[in-house]
Amino acid sequence: MAELTFVGAAGTVTGSKHLLTENGRHMFVDCGLFQGTPDVTALNSLPLPVPAKEIEAVVITHGHIDHVGYLPKLVHDGFRGTIYCTPATRALIAIVLEDAVHLQAHLQKRGLHHQPFTPPPFYDEGDVQRTLQLTKPVPLGESFDVCGMTATYQNAAHIIGSAFVQLDIEGRRIVFSGDVGRYNRTLLYDPAPIGTADVMVCESTYGDRVHPPDALGALEQMLVQGIARGGPIIIPAFAVERTQEILFSLGTLQQSNAGIASTPIYLDSPMAERVDELFDKFPDAHKPLPSKNGKTFGAADVTLVESTDDSKRLNAMGGAHIIISSSGMAAGGRVLHHIYHHVSDEHATILFVGFQAPGTLGAHLMSGAKTVRIFGDDLPVRAALGNITGYSAHADRDEITQWLSTCTTKPHFFAVHGDPVSAQFLCDLVRSKFTWVGDVAHRGTTVTI
Ligand code: ZN
Repeated sequence: MAELTFVGAAGTVTGSKHLLTENGRHMFVDCGLFQGTPDVTALNSLPLPVPAKEIEAVVITHGHIDHVGYLPKLVHDGFRGTIYCTPATRALIAIVLEDAVHLQAHLQKRGLHHQPFTPPPFYDEGDVQRTLQLTKPVPLGESFDVCGMTATYQNAAHIIGSAFVQLDIEGRRIVFSGDVGRYNRTLLYDPAPIGTADVMVCESTYGDRVHPPDALGALEQMLVQGIARGGPIIIPAFAVERTQEILFSLGTLQQSNAGIASTPIYLDSPMAERVDELFDKFPDAHKPLPSKNGKTFGAADVTLVESTDDSKRLNAMGGAHIIISSSGMAAGGRVLHHIYHHVSDEHATILFVGFQAPGTLGAHLMSGAKTVRIFGDDLPVRAALGNITGYSAHADRDEITQWLSTCTTKPHFFAVHGDPVSAQFLCDLVRSKFTWVGDVAHRGTTVTI
């Protein structure tokens, strides 16, 4: 019998790390960073239940930092096994980890480490390069051996390259959902059906909530109001996929709204540009994109801002214009400079397009703060603020249940990757709707499967 230990993303949304032990051999499914408030990020410093050098393999579900951000630390501590991932995820891991290590160095230099949602300074560029050398890409649907088990990736529709994992152990199948995406996405194909499972380890980020239905309509309304104000419309957006989705939406709105069509767009995110290239490199990992014709993800009149000097020049621009820049929660990155310059400008609009975690500047602004401190200066908030939550890459309560209903057996269900309330809600829902046995996973506990 194999043993499963919940090391991370159990009781929290971040820090995904599930340890599987079979016949004395150890492997992880995902190896992510804990992120957020100081008590959560402190969990990154806890020792692993098994020394890094005794881990034989890591099976990665997708390239978000809360699923891959601990890998270089594992390598730093002696891990020399194989890191399995899909081909697009491998390319994304390189982008995400290189960005993380540069951000660490930058914040260290400015004495700004310990900021919310920034990686702790516990690995360097060398660790990242050694990590990348250990990665082995495996396409969706192809089985591979790992620690005497057989693993297969299937499409999860969360971000480019994302997968859920079927693990076959001695005639039993464990499914790790990774992060479950959504149906009818503009860029990604629907999640694959689950098939059979004896154990289901499933995320529950939005296990108790339903996303608002009309993100595009909300975006149009906010843009029209922002254009009428006559100043910059700053959209903090995650470089990985949220930026591409927003560009796609802007392209759609340009066709029906003359005001939006005549408003120039500046993409000020070098990391997002690297992610854009990834879509070209892996055409099988997403739906066909709109023809380029000088457009970026379907949006016309997009200027790619490369240098930091060009980025600074945007601050002096007059009239209505759209700036898309990361990070999505304004926890760092170039968007901080744009907010610094415009948060006190009553003609400006700051439009968030995703979840704002506690402790971040985004959450502070959206809570109605009258002043914010950026780069040591206290600034009055006069810009108009908005937040559109319908762009989530996570399945909501109904979409997770839709996906779980594609399971043809009655597995033992474990809710992970959610705050305690949503994990419990999803667990109760699964028990009553499907009559499965369900438990909320607790960090540090081991179950025999
Ligand atoms: Zn994710």
